[in-house]
Amino acid sequence: MRVLLAEDDPMIGASVRHGLGQDGFAVDWVEDGRAAELALAEGVHDALVLDLGLPKRTGLEVLGAMRKSGDSRPVLVLTARDAVADRVAGLDAGADDYVVKPFDLNELAARLRALLRRGSGRAGRLLASGDVEIDPSTREVRFKGELVAVSPREFALLEALLTRPGVILSRAQLEDKLYGWSDPVESNAVEVHIHSLRKKLGADFIRNVRGVGWMVARGSAAATAASVGVHT
Ligand code: CA
Repeated sequence: MRVLLAEDDPMIGASVRHGLGQDGFAVDWVEDGRAAELALAEGVHDALVLDLGLPKRTGLEVLGAMRKSGDSRPVLVLTARDAVADRVAGLDAGADDYVVKPFDLNELAARLRALLRRGSGRAGRLLASGDVEIDPSTREVRFKGELVAVSPREFALLEALLTRPGVILSRAQLEDKLYGWSDPVESNAVEVHIHSLRKKLGADFIRNVRGVGWMVARGSAAATAASVGVHT
């Protein structure tokens, strides 16, 4: 998942970028409201973490313009302690959630994952396709019920594919989920990660549509077994 962080405090910005990065998010950090709007216009981010007190354009202005233009991506607002009026204004302007500074990075990541889950219309927390099941909150991957170790980028790739089963994702779309602006994109990285995932999760799990991209099948073995059970 790729997140835009708009925060002008260098300490908070650096720690949030680092913390969410450790948690497997690709994070792009901007330090003023105008830069946030330009970045949002690219349309590559899955969510926005927004400080309200930003230079050039305030967080509320950024949020208001987003919602006015029909951009419904999840927004998590960062507010100062005791700034109740800010929180209310943020929620009124269309924020989905907020955390109060100073906040725990694990809590921020958990709230962000919850917003992204809700945004994708998923009620449960698990994503599954075939014999593979992943849990975005714990970052666990299971193949036929057994835990499998994957790298943070392999997880990000799996999450991108499993969030949209049955949909072919292009190399550019997958790279967008794996890398922030500041990360060098290694050539063939997507192929390398997919090769590694196929070794761990079965050769047929991720399908390649030549010249177009990659996809995983809709539906899981567990779901199929359950529906068969209903009919017997
Ligand atoms: Ca600020």
